[in-house]
Amino acid sequence: MHRVKTLGILLMATLTSQALAQKIVIAHRGASGYLPEHTLEAKSMAYAMGADYIEQDVVMTKDDHLIVLHDITLDRTTDVAEKFPQRARDDGRYYAIDFTLEEVRQLSASEGFRLDNGQKVQGYAERFPLGHSAFSVSTLEEEIELIQGLNESTDRDVGIYPEIKQPEFHRQEGRDISTAVVDVLKRYGYSSKQDKVYLQTFSFEELEIIKTEILPAAGIEVNLIQLLGSPESYPWMFESDGMSKLAAFADGIGPAHPLVIERGSSRSNLRITPLVERAHAAGLQVHPYTYRSDPGQVPQYAEDFDDLLEKHYFQADVDGLFTDFPDQAVNFLRTRRR
Ligand code: CA
Repeated sequence: MHRVKTLGILLMATLTSQALAQKIVIAHRGASGYLPEHTLEAKSMAYAMGADYIEQDVVMTKDDHLIVLHDITLDRTTDVAEKFPQRARDDGRYYAIDFTLEEVRQLSASEGFRLDNGQKVQGYAERFPLGHSAFSVSTLEEEIELIQGLNESTDRDVGIYPEIKQPEFHRQEGRDISTAVVDVLKRYGYSSKQDKVYLQTFSFEELEIIKTEILPAAGIEVNLIQLLGSPESYPWMFESDGMSKLAAFADGIGPAHPLVIERGSSRSNLRITPLVERAHAAGLQVHPYTYRSDPGQVPQYAEDFDDLLEKHYFQADVDGLFTDFPDQAVNFLRTRRR
């Protein structure tokens, strides 16, 4: 009796530490809470902070290079409007696909900003100041080489987490960005589901093409993540059998975090949706986005950022999460493990 109980406790302890060990931290656009998003500096910092995976958003240039940029336009995070004032489209935006890599390399990257009466105002007031130091936009290959180089020099195995940005837009522009990204992954040795890469997109139609055509044509397999924004995009995914249907194409989901714990939750009434349970039942991993500790970014139902992480990692049982503050999530999981 006593022995059985001890074994049971040991088994539970083992299961718990395994479950903990599997929880991952994904650096959202790098350590973007501290350095301008998607710069190699922000990626190095995320790496040093102990992130398990580092995210790349990927768009294409005019001459078919893959660059790491969140928007399909260069306006929000570079000085393109000053360097190339004549190159906006009719909507006033500067599209990366209209610029060669050589031109993109002339731009200075910065913290994201908006224009207010012609003045640049940064999106997050307390983050890295606008106009300080010098940053640039890099290619997907340069970023992979940075991470793989650090993996060699530090003897760690940090993964990459590329997102195909707006594949339909790229197709309208006559480009197949997914095939280009898959070719790069293959060239850099990511070729099986054991390799440390997750390939993500919001477009289910594109995910289907990647799964059924592009990966087979390249002769490789990688883990695929379906991102979920609003339920209106794909209502079927939120039906009771939605996750099992999705599991034919994806290895996991990346939902906006209010799809996991409802925004209207309170401390006494935490409303955890059925999404994680359904995804797990279908064998899908769950990596929600985006967890931020900037002023005003922690939902009311959490006491502080650590409590937000506790509720999502352990009460809602997500497998990993995207955060702009990878150090805080890494420290939280380390403390939780003790
Ligand atoms: Ca992204």
